[in-house]
Amino acid sequence: MSDKPELTVSVVTPDGEVYEKKTTLAICKTGEGELGIMPNHTPVLASLAIDEVRVKTGEDQYDEIAIGGGFLEFSNNVLSIVASAAERKENIDASRAERARDRAKERIEKAQNEHDAKELKRAEISLKRALNRIKISGH
Ligand code: ATP
Repeated sequence: MSDKPELTVSVVTPDGEVYEKKTTLAICKTGEGELGIMPNHTPVLASLAIDEVRVKTGEDQYDEIAIGGGFLEFSNNVLSIVASAAERKENIDASRAERARDRAKERIEKAQNEHDAKELKRAEISLKRALNRIKISGH
């Protein structure tokens, strides 16, 4: 893809950089919907949903990265993604995510019974993260 203009995608988390690659297209799920970024896109700052980021690596081929929420910034052909957690599809431990999903469901039930709105919200976010990882891992 070296003959086409490219942008650099960088994904960082509190654990450090988890991904960096040059591409012709990155597709992100922002708080306001899907955002496709190609080289020379106008500068943008947006929140990132608990969802996936897809980075084009070839004809109909994409790297898939699970994002646990965060934000993105694009300028000067660099897409910086700052996420609370992020895993490449290949690195997702699906059975760990399934255990996290089951725990989150139990927490939701308990929080509902106890009318604990704050804990309910936290547990719902945990569930979302777990389901996102399961979906992206392909299980
Ligand atoms: P768990 O309860 O399984 O720890 P969690 O949703 O609480 O899940 P996070 O706080 O979002 O986990 O992430 C903590 C760290 O563990 C991050 O570095 C994240 O990338 C990693 N991580 C969490 N779940 C998985 C998974 N299923 N596979 C691979 N890495 C994971």
